[in-house]
Amino acid sequence: MKKTYYSKLGAILISFLIILSASAKDQSTDILSGYETKKIAEHTWFIPGPLEGPNPKNRGFMNNPAFVITEKSVIVLDPGGTVETGRAVLKRIRQQTKNPITHVFNTHVHGDHWLGNQAFVEANKDVKIYAHPKMIELATDGEAQVWIDMMMDRTKGASKETIATIPTEALKDQQEIKIDNITIKAHLNEKAHTLTDAMYEIVEDKVLITGDNAFNNRAPRLDDGSYIGNMAVLDKALKLPIEIVIPGHGPARGKEVLENFKEFLSLVYNTTKKQMENDLEAHEIKPKVIEVMGKFKDWTNYEGAIGKLVSVAALEIEENDF
Ligand SMILES: [Zn+2]
Repeated sequence: MKKTYYSKLGAILISFLIILSASAKDQSTDILSGYETKKIAEHTWFIPGPLEGPNPKNRGFMNNPAFVITEKSVIVLDPGGTVETGRAVLKRIRQQTKNPITHVFNTHVHGDHWLGNQAFVEANKDVKIYAHPKMIELATDGEAQVWIDMMMDRTKGASKETIATIPTEALKDQQEIKIDNITIKAHLNEKAHTLTDAMYEIVEDKVLITGDNAFNNRAPRLDDGSYIGNMAVLDKALKLPIEIVIPGHGPARGKEVLENFKEFLSLVYNTTKKQMENDLEAHEIKPKVIEVMGKFKDWTNYEGAIGKLVSVAALEIEENDF
């Protein structure tokens, strides 16, 4: 009797230890493991990230960090959502080049794209970090802290070493920054995904980094933005002399990424508008939108996001009507 009791206790202890060591191993594996560095143009690389929101498994890594290797330097665009992600991106860059990282560009104020900045200041205190002037303003006025707190909460503490490293270099629309043999051209927007969006054209490589002005295979969040504004930005981007589009989330492709995402936005906005004109209530509109969105039904987060997207569209339509 006693013997069975002790062997049972032993078995429980052993399985407890296995679970403990497995979770310790989980924490020590590289945050980017399973996500390859991809060379997408002559000088441009990116790491296609997970499509889910921040959680304990992805530890706040959920965007598409990109980097450009110039003759003497490295340029980083959107280094990720935590300092832990930024440090892992830096390690990936080191697998390709020893050049110093001299410039970082951020696409907008949402922290999943830029809280990784901190890792690049740790590596080079003279690094210059650029963004839309409104991004710098809003991050400084409290948005940075909102994202720090949200990351801590959603990743269950995996982002604990992250502090806000807000860009200091405010860009102008159409500004070109020459870094050795590479030109980064900034395209600033007024109100699209947010009030703070910059898209970056890597001129020599014909690559466009859209930030969240374009999503691929994942439903967007448009609470801080505008359907009309975002669609106008996509039209503008379609006219640029680019061949490759790296969206804020999801796989990189050609300009079809822009067309596809514009279709997503226009289906939600125009169907909502039509049904409002038919005097349907908000809860009656959602199923009508779902009916026409079949092509996008498998996008990550679609089911969770579509109700909110319809309400955001309805608000914007009301604002535009009155
Ligand atoms: Zn965003």
